[in-house]
Amino acid sequence: MSDWKEEVEEVVFPGKICVPYTWTVGSTMSKWYVLMRDEGQIWANRCPSCGKVYIPPKAKCLECYRDVNDWVRLPGTGTVETFTVVHYEEPSMHPKKPPFAYGIIRMDGADTGFVHLIDEIEPEKIKVGMRVEAVMSEERSGNILDIKYFRPID
Ligand SMILES: [Zn+2]
Repeated sequence: MSDWKEEVEEVVFPGKICVPYTWTVGSTMSKWYVLMRDEGQIWANRCPSCGKVYIPPKAKCLECYRDVNDWVRLPGTGTVETFTVVHYEEPSMHPKKPPFAYGIIRMDGADTGFVHLIDEIEPEKIKVGMRVEAVMSEERSGNILDIKYFRPID
C-alpha cells in the first residue's frame, strides 16, 4: 500500500488558460503609435550617429547603440522585400480570414524592413520587389492596424 504512487499510471488532461494583461510599449513606440493614430502619418527615427533609419522606431541604434531621437516622416510608399501567404485560420492571432499575405516592406526613406499586411491583390500575384503604399485605417486607435494594409501602386 505504501508504494502505490510509484505504480500508478499518471493521468494528464490538456488545459488552456487565458491570462489578460497589459504592457507598455515604451516612449519610443508610444510616440510612433500616437503619430499614426492622431495624424494618420507614418514616421521612423534616425540614428544621429550612423544615420540608420528605423521603422518601427528604436530607442537605441542596433548598429552603434546611440540614443535614436531624430524623427523623420516617411512618404508611406515602399517595396516588398519578401512575403508569405497565410492559409491557416486563427482568429485570435490574425486580423483577417485566410488566405491573406504578410509582407516585409522596406519603406522609402527607411533602412529596415517592416512587417505588415498586403491587400487589394490576389496573394498569388504578389511579387518580391513590388511597389506598395500604405492605406491608413479610417478609425485609428493607436496600434499597428492604424495602417490598414499595404496595396500595390504599380
Ligand atoms: Zn547608429
